[in-house]
Amino acid sequence: MKISMVSEHASPLAVLGGVDAGGQNVHVAELSSALAARGHEVTVYTRREDRSVDERVRLCDGVEVVHVDAGPPERVPKDELLPYMDAFGDRLAEDWSRETPDIVHSHFWMSGLAALRGAERTTGGRPPVVHTFHALGTVKRRHQGAEDTSPAERVDLEPMVGRSVDQVIATCSDEAFELKALGVPGSRITVVPCGVDTRLFSPNGPSETADRPFRIMTVGRLVPRKGVGLTISALASLVAAGRDDVELVVLGGSSGPDHIQEDPDVQRLLAHARSLGVDDRVVFRGQVRQDELPAALRSAHVVVCAPWYEPFGIVPLEAMATGTPVVAAAVGGLIDSVVHGRTGLHVPPRDAGAIADAVTMLLDDPELLASLGAAGVERTRSRYSWARVAADTERGYRRVLGRARRSARSSGEAVTR
Ligand code: UDP
Repeated sequence: MKISMVSEHASPLAVLGGVDAGGQNVHVAELSSALAARGHEVTVYTRREDRSVDERVRLCDGVEVVHVDAGPPERVPKDELLPYMDAFGDRLAEDWSRETPDIVHSHFWMSGLAALRGAERTTGGRPPVVHTFHALGTVKRRHQGAEDTSPAERVDLEPMVGRSVDQVIATCSDEAFELKALGVPGSRITVVPCGVDTRLFSPNGPSETADRPFRIMTVGRLVPRKGVGLTISALASLVAAGRDDVELVVLGGSSGPDHIQEDPDVQRLLAHARSLGVDDRVVFRGQVRQDELPAALRSAHVVVCAPWYEPFGIVPLEAMATGTPVVAAAVGGLIDSVVHGRTGLHVPPRDAGAIADAVTMLLDDPELLASLGAAGVERTRSRYSWARVAADTERGYRRVLGRARRSARSSGEAVTR
């Protein structure tokens, strides 16, 4: 198949860990590569954020990234990109009118808008559009309230995207429920999770040396909703309960290790750690490259993922794939991916005391740690490899194409009659 991916703000070529670069970038890069490995030809359209990059860049065999001129050729926060989506869609229509893809797969609500516009304006036939939301505005608004900086139009436009595309791929069952509540018919929703690179994230390989006997770790963007502050509070509870043997290593942030102190999120979290008297045992490492992550994850006894909400969450998969148990807030995708008592422990959201209890339980029981770690490796290998995710996604595409063909046939018959 000729597949057009549309990912307006999240380029598969981006450096991860900053404010707007995380799971979606990984998802688009890995899914595209895995689909190409199955013999498909993939083009990824993303907004140009840098004047100096080429228009077309090869990601790997079978995957090309196209930088679309829509808005200023510089980084623009994703919540300010809506005004450029018409231009983005028009540019898609130009390309698709020259060579129409078999299937379009858009990522995030604004890419959905651009993709629908592009598809409608494609001369010679509208290609079917499959969509993955990655995050839902209704959920964001529920948890972030006035701090949600999404454009006001999202409330109406996002459900419209869900109802207008040919198929929505939800990444977890929780999201499927949310989508139905937005009016997306259940028959047009399939659940295919995100995946993890199980060759890179494996239990075998080098491990960093920890500075204290026990190491807790968090990985990801440091925006408040990721809940790193809760993990710092949990650390303080552990220390107050007499555990002098624990450190917390925080990976991620808007800059690398050299400028870490300038990151406002690091400053906020450091002030929090200082106020609790644990700043000497919290290490902020800044952005870390994907290929450096496995050694870091292997050095941790427990990875804590304590978001307020989480559309999917690739980090728990990466931790499990390297054999490290996860303490996870029971929200969103983490409900499906982390199995309580088998690959980690679930805790209620926004509950630092529960995180502290769960971490204590694991650190006190090396056998439990080892068995949860082994089960995590097994679970990620059997269910979450990108090869499996690509195969399931391809099945979804074929269903949509089959339906499109059937409906073209029946409307043709109607015209003939
Ligand atoms: N990540 C990374 N380096 C960092 C921080 C994060 O490579 O310094 C990666 C992380 O390994 C994961 C992705 O960014 O693959 C974050 O995805 P997730 O779904 O967990 O969260 P999101 O950022 O999408 O909310």
